[in-house]
Amino acid sequence: MVLADLGRKLSTALASLNRAPVIDDKVLDTLLKEVCAALLESDVNVKLVSQLRQKVKTKVKAQFEAGADRGKETNRRSVVQKAIFDELVQLVDPGVEPYKPKKGHPNVIMAVGLQGNGKTTTCTKLAVHYQKRGFKSCIVCADTFRAGAFDQTRQSATKAKVAYFGSYTETDPVSIASQGVTKFKKERFEVIIVDTSGRHKQESELFREMVQISEAVKPDMTILVLDASIGQAAEAQGRAFKESADFGAIIVTKMDGHAKGGGAISAVAATKTPIIFLGVGEHLTDLDRFAPRPFISKLLGMGDVQGLMEHMHDIAAANPEKQKEMAKKLEEGKLSIRDWREQIQNVMNMGPLSKIASMIPGFPQDMLAGSDEEGTLRMKRMLYITDSMSAMELDSDGSCFLTFGKDGKPEGLTWRVTRVARGSGTSVREVEELLCQYRMMANMAKQAGGKNGWMNAVQKMQ
Ligand code: GDP
Repeated sequence: MVLADLGRKLSTALASLNRAPVIDDKVLDTLLKEVCAALLESDVNVKLVSQLRQKVKTKVKAQFEAGADRGKETNRRSVVQKAIFDELVQLVDPGVEPYKPKKGHPNVIMAVGLQGNGKTTTCTKLAVHYQKRGFKSCIVCADTFRAGAFDQTRQSATKAKVAYFGSYTETDPVSIASQGVTKFKKERFEVIIVDTSGRHKQESELFREMVQISEAVKPDMTILVLDASIGQAAEAQGRAFKESADFGAIIVTKMDGHAKGGGAISAVAATKTPIIFLGVGEHLTDLDRFAPRPFISKLLGMGDVQGLMEHMHDIAAANPEKQKEMAKKLEEGKLSIRDWREQIQNVMNMGPLSKIASMIPGFPQDMLAGSDEEGTLRMKRMLYITDSMSAMELDSDGSCFLTFGKDGKPEGLTWRVTRVARGSGTSVREVEELLCQYRMMANMAKQAGGKNGWMNAVQKMQ
């Protein structure tokens, strides 16, 4: 994805700090020059970029003067890194919390935006997102302007196994929207997404229609869908829409295909409206949750623990019994190979591997190498390995696979490893790797102990 280029440039610039023996003004200037060049290339507004440069400089200077570096180069590095990290977060942070759908409540979400921005696709992606998290979700197609809009909704909703409502004959979008929302509310749907029509450009007719639909269905949240390719022009488009339809959140689509993505995100943040998701492809799962801090963390290759935990929590919420069981195990700091297996399965169920894996700090990079298909295959092989383990082995802490020296430290592998490798059609090295990864997770759980201990331990790793 194009945003990854920006991330790579930023993290390369930050990594140069580690090579510099002394952190002085010259090093800071060179670093800031690289960071700013990368941001400008991504179409971030010149004024915002120059503000960022100035703020970092002022902050670093103040911290150095206050003695935050305690005379050590490593501390000086951290001060600079933190200042840049925080200012990057500021750049994409509108400082406003978005609406969060509530369980057991008919949350009406209305999507608005210009034609071609990806509104219809995004509505289905949203429905899938919430459905996966245990919300009974559906779509109302109130787009009567574009021929074929209802067909598109029907097809994608059917593919996604999401309920939908629309009409081939009714021409009044307000009436369709009302009928659909009333019907789905009666049927106790929890996330009701209303897809409205767009136009080629901002016309008074479009805005009038948006207001009318909004008055009829009284949405809990109106989302503006914006195309990343407009870069910093997103600010003007956002403001124009805001004057007519008071939307509460934004989704920026096509982040996968456009180098101007950074510009669009920062421009939107400047309008003080929260971005809640990014569209990152044409598939139904190509929707990334957006939050400023985790976004920057992930962009810089530092993982996104918060996102991962939310994701796991959401998935678990769809299955409360399992959630309770897992919470207990984490609380006790006891994680068996069987639990690790379950985590791998969860990760695989969550969506494309690269997305989930990039949220995990310290996740073995070689597991991610290559395409999503290759990564998924590697994970499948891990599951095959666990399939070849006996119940006793699965419920163990993995020590039955190891021989120990006099000092109690692991020394070698037992015959069980060879048996499992043979039985699963994998190699001894792969079994060893799986055990190693499991041990890493189990150790974190043990070290942390206590409530949410595992989560704290992972966070400490960042
Ligand atoms: P609408 O007119 O706003 O409803 O737009 P559509 O949902 O019909 O989308 C227009 C085009 O953009 C379609 O070809 C979609 O597949 C494509 N599209 C939507 N979202 C994304 C995205 O996040 N990434 C990419 N690459 N394409 C997208």
